[in-house]
Amino acid sequence: MTPLEFDARHLWHPYTNVLDPGPMHLITQAEGVWLTRDDGVRMIDAMSSWWCAVHGHGHPAITGAMQAQLAQMPHVMFGGLTHEAAIDLGRKLIELLPAGMDRIFYSDSGSVAIEVALKMAVQYQMAMGRTERTQFATIRGGYHGDTWKAMSVCDPVNGMHGLFSGALSIQHFLPRPQIALDQDWSEDGEINGLDSLEQLLSSDGHRIAALILEPVVQGAGGMYFYHPTWLQRAHEMCRAHDVLVVFDEIATGFGRTGELFAMHHAGVVPDILCLGKALTGGHITLAATVTSETVARGIGESAASVLMHGPTYMANPLACAAACASLDQLSVRDWRGEVSAIEKQMQQELSPARDLPGVADVRVLGAIGVIEMTDRVDPSIAHARAPDTGVWLRPFGRNIYCMPPYVISSDELSRVADAMLSLVRGDA
Ligand SMILES: *Cc1c(COP(=O)(O)O)cnc(C)c1O
Repeated sequence: MTPLEFDARHLWHPYTNVLDPGPMHLITQAEGVWLTRDDGVRMIDAMSSWWCAVHGHGHPAITGAMQAQLAQMPHVMFGGLTHEAAIDLGRKLIELLPAGMDRIFYSDSGSVAIEVALKMAVQYQMAMGRTERTQFATIRGGYHGDTWKAMSVCDPVNGMHGLFSGALSIQHFLPRPQIALDQDWSEDGEINGLDSLEQLLSSDGHRIAALILEPVVQGAGGMYFYHPTWLQRAHEMCRAHDVLVVFDEIATGFGRTGELFAMHHAGVVPDILCLGKALTGGHITLAATVTSETVARGIGESAASVLMHGPTYMANPLACAAACASLDQLSVRDWRGEVSAIEKQMQQELSPARDLPGVADVRVLGAIGVIEMTDRVDPSIAHARAPDTGVWLRPFGRNIYCMPPYVISSDELSRVADAMLSLVRGDA
């Protein structure tokens, strides 16, 4: 069996039919924005490998930090033991995050960071004597991961609710904020959709531990950008009803939307924040759930007293070292300039798509470029064409989109835009 035959015969791939996995590329090297196949074919990674590799692949500062850590200690348990990589990363994160977000729980993936956030919210509510608050509210069009509880707050239509309906706990779904980022805000609660939040909080607020959502940019649930004022109002309303606010910045964190964190577009600080994906610059898996002194203290002083979570590979030193080096890159490079140059160029080069048949919308924010089609897009077409266009794209749902590494050159970005347009046109 060739390696690809073995892969097709034995390995599961994400969201893929095990019997018909479609076109598959054997990657032997990833460097900068480039992926190289076993036969030497090169493709630009316009996905930043699921939005993580913001500084490009195999960044020498990050791999160097990992090698140094590897020589010292790839891993030790975090129960009762600690290490400098975790401490350094904690210092760096606290410096980057808004004042007050300063209690950090490390975990190994975004979905787990969400599980931890939801657990924190319920434990905090219990600690406050609000033991009946075990449910969650969220907005439609969201995505928060694939583990069981995270799945229950993903969009009920685009997500996996259909498949697992009997097994998922019921949460409260509000309509997606209707006013888009580029539209004018309206205080009319029927137009901005906040009436439904007010109704929910009045009728069921006493059962709700937290409102969880992706601030401003909804990623895998549909690549939708909504008005930041919605967040400000929703945050005030939740406060008034003792409902915690959880921001999932796993996709949006570390500059992707043009601000360091998407919450900065709204100037809102949540009670609990989830980070992941680009935290290590796409070099190794790591996530974090960060909360305030108030929430941490509440849990610590409660009868339960401990947060009931502790992944085996919590605060893995290798991953923490990679994250430290990745955050250092953000501080030494002009990521803001890079992202805004990408934004401007994509606004120009994707806009011709507006006039093509089958296109519903074109939108760009920071280093995110989206062409939304009226019908579902078959990702296997993009996969099969990638070697010819030299651009790796993985459309989902009705969206052909890119989230390139911030270090992409303007020529390379033009190739990405061309490849997206050629998919829209259905070029053979
Ligand atoms: C990817 C993602 C997750 C899940 O992260 P994993 O590391 O895949 O478990 C959660 N929330 C958002 C917004 C994401 O984009």
